[in-house]
Amino acid sequence: QWIYLNGDFVSKEDAKISVYDHGFLYGDGIFEGIRIYGGNIFKCKEHLDRLYDSAKSIMLDMPLSHGEMQDALVETIRRNGMRDGYIRLVVSRGPGNLGLDPKRCPSAWVIIIVEQLAIYPEEAYKNGLVSVSVSQRRNIPDALNPKIKSLNYLNNILVKIQANLAGVGEAIMLNSQGYVAEGSSDNIFIIKNGVVYTPPCYVGALEGITRAAIIDLCAKHGYKLKEEPFTLHDVYVADEVFFTGTAAEVIAVREVDGRTIGSGKAGPITTNLLQEFRKIVTVDGVK
Ligand code: PLP
Repeated sequence: QWIYLNGDFVSKEDAKISVYDHGFLYGDGIFEGIRIYGGNIFKCKEHLDRLYDSAKSIMLDMPLSHGEMQDALVETIRRNGMRDGYIRLVVSRGPGNLGLDPKRCPSAWVIIIVEQLAIYPEEAYKNGLVSVSVSQRRNIPDALNPKIKSLNYLNNILVKIQANLAGVGEAIMLNSQGYVAEGSSDNIFIIKNGVVYTPPCYVGALEGITRAAIIDLCAKHGYKLKEEPFTLHDVYVADEVFFTGTAAEVIAVREVDGRTIGSGKAGPITTNLLQEFRKIVTVDGVK
């Protein structure tokens, strides 16, 4: 396995960063998780746009242009002979001193790792996941804006810990006002009376690339979609609930906090959206 480390390709064993790296010391950096389907980088431009927007927002000088970054992704995939897998692209503020001042970090570091992906079994897509809501709250834009996909994932990790304690694969996070925000690393959708709902990102959600793809598919296939805030009550009484994310794609939820959702397995609209999503993944991207 070859890892891209600041312009060099090194083995997994040799891929090391400084203990003074501010990504490590402070979570000062940004990242993307991207899928490779049939040798194709799915939604490459969208992921790079989000990465460069995150960089601009936190005033991180990117050492590579958009085009150079895309070339680095393609080359890393080629060197690893990867046809289907996952790319983790990390840009840290780079090594500095022990103070938190980013001025002391002369250059950002770019790391690209490609790996096989451990995904949910196909059975989970048919029968749905069990999920729970957790007490951890999503930070909303008055703190760190959730649109920035930063290396500060402690909030999400605390959600994952609560999911683990409950024995479920993904949990539901609310914002401080009690509106449903998202999962630990997935966006959430509910369906009621044929209408698809997802929280607007200002509620406290990442602008997921898969979320955007599903919004497009809803428009294309004539499903009415509303981006509006909703509560756990709306989740409990929904006909269908699903999560979206780069790794999970579109995964149904069959139970939330002990309430059975709809028929207790993946509903018809969720199933259809998953099928349509899987049709676009090998065509919509960079070869
Ligand atoms: N929400 C959070 C907090 C995430 O980390 C992710 C994963 O990237 C998502 C949602 C889903 O976004 P995407 O579809 O771009 O993978």
